[in-house]
Amino acid sequence: FMLYRLQPQVRHVDGARVNLMSLTTAIDDVMSLLDRSDKPYIRSGKTRFTGLRQAIAFRAVDFCYGPGEKTALQNISICIPKGKTTAIVGPSGAGKSTLISLICRFYDPTSGEIEIDGQPLPQLNLADWRDRIAVVSQSVHIFSTTVYENIAYGRPEATEAEVIAAAKQANAHEFISQLPQGYQTQVGDQGVRLSGGQRQRLALARAIIRNPEILILDEATNALDSISEHLIQEAINALSQRCTLIVIAHRLSTIEQADQIIVIEEGQVTEQGTMAELLKRDRLFAQLYRLQYRNAQL
Ligand code: ATP
Repeated sequence: FMLYRLQPQVRHVDGARVNLMSLTTAIDDVMSLLDRSDKPYIRSGKTRFTGLRQAIAFRAVDFCYGPGEKTALQNISICIPKGKTTAIVGPSGAGKSTLISLICRFYDPTSGEIEIDGQPLPQLNLADWRDRIAVVSQSVHIFSTTVYENIAYGRPEATEAEVIAAAKQANAHEFISQLPQGYQTQVGDQGVRLSGGQRQRLALARAIIRNPEILILDEATNALDSISEHLIQEAINALSQRCTLIVIAHRLSTIEQADQIIVIEEGQVTEQGTMAELLKRDRLFAQLYRLQYRNAQL
């Protein structure tokens, strides 16, 4: 009887917990805004963004983080076509992450323009634009809660079926099912420790559940276990059929499968093309390729 009496309270607490989860999302948003206190105010545009039709185009984009800083990007003119996979390659500090920050509009170019289907990015409604982009960064944050909520965090109103579908697409369902309490298993600091590859797949599921149109991946530089690596690659290949994929690429398999490779060195695009084209040109990319994959057949 006591349990029966308690049921509404339990439900209430459960509801509060869910509310807290969405509040965490809001706090996260505020924190990331605060984190950008040094950044110039980014004003939203008025045009509603309903979907990418053709391409994201950089037109002679220069970018500098601030007075006294060196130019992070210089005269970038590239085209990222809808539905294709673009790999961004280059040495550390070349400007790859900066390029991604500009696409997400965390900053605006110092000069030049980024156009979305021919329209300047600042004219688009910022929330609409960011809503269509998902970023999977190298440093995956796992919240101290259940696996389920770690995925649903990407879209708190998602149904259970959607959470599972996202996990399946990220090739995470199988390992989740083998955890002690499946999707209800606690992970994070106080819970089950996940391997790097499992964390990556969880992050991928969190991105997939948002059904993004543009998926940006910052590929892990550290080695993952080979099973995870294969499963992640497989999931990404499937996603590349549905999304405009932009990958800061470190793995040969990703680079090989890209529709175009953009090589950045010291803030400038120095090479651009398919893998075959870049190997033929025999510049930095070909050198890196040989150095990194000495045993690969050329
Ligand atoms: P990595 O592969 O190491 O991540 P990257 O190619 O992504 O490097 P960026 O992080 O885009 O390179 O950095 C490009 C340049 O801009 C570097 O010289 C870096 O020091 C500088 N930079 C990056 N972020 C900031 C910042 N917030 N403020 C000032 N300078 C920055």
